[in-house]
Amino acid sequence: MALSKTEAIVLRTRRQGETSKILSLYTQHYGRISVMAKGARSIKSRYGGVLEPQTHIGLVFYRYETRELQYLSQAEIISPFAKLHEQLGRMAMAAIPCEMVERNEANGHVNPALFHLLLSTLTVIDGAEKGYRNAVRAFMVRYMEHSGFKPEFAHCRGCGQKQRSDGAFFDFSKGGFVCDACSGTLGEGQKLSAAVLERLHYFLQAPLEKSVQVSVDAAQGREMDRFLLSYMQYHIETLHHLNSIIYLDKIQSTLRIVKPDEQRKQYGDSE
Ligand SMILES: [Zn+2]
Repeated sequence: MALSKTEAIVLRTRRQGETSKILSLYTQHYGRISVMAKGARSIKSRYGGVLEPQTHIGLVFYRYETRELQYLSQAEIISPFAKLHEQLGRMAMAAIPCEMVERNEANGHVNPALFHLLLSTLTVIDGAEKGYRNAVRAFMVRYMEHSGFKPEFAHCRGCGQKQRSDGAFFDFSKGGFVCDACSGTLGEGQKLSAAVLERLHYFLQAPLEKSVQVSVDAAQGREMDRFLLSYMQYHIETLHHLNSIIYLDKIQSTLRIVKPDEQRKQYGDSE
């Protein structure tokens, strides 16, 4: 047993007994771990509001290498991501990368670069004025790179030719687009427009915080989101049926149904 110190993103919490919590964390130095926080739910808890999902914390814990469940000693908040927790849209977005990491990262698999990617994604979702949905798209593209399925959007997987202005077919098994000359027998995949290929390529290359400046119209957004989800799920079994995506679809379809004038009434407009 060793007393270990690290930073973490709280991915998920669940109740344990009357007063305790088990936290699923993605840590900077130990990958994903589960820790028991004794007494975290009691009124006099010394942890206060520190142990909530989608927060950035510093912690000290008792680390037992052979055990699945670790024990929390101390925790302090580094960033509460206050704006993210106040707005439903931001919270729904932040839930996606957290659930992906929670589902797919094996216990104890260490990847500090992924920790920083997750942290910057939440920081952008919390702090950006607008366009923060692109941070989730950029996270997804980068996550595929971290998982060994780096997508290729700029050059044909077969001959290396640059993409043309009329878009191209992205072959999931090849992890990149293929030009007409190289297509041969097409596998499972999706036709992508040149605009979407360019944007996805940018998300892969540029610093994550710049993704919010990229303009994405409604049709491009739908095309991109369909592609990202299909490509991730083609390669990674655990990313099927993400609750955060199901939830997002639900609140989005509700927003579409509400008529503008009823919406105005809801906000107390007179006409
Ligand atoms: Zn080619």
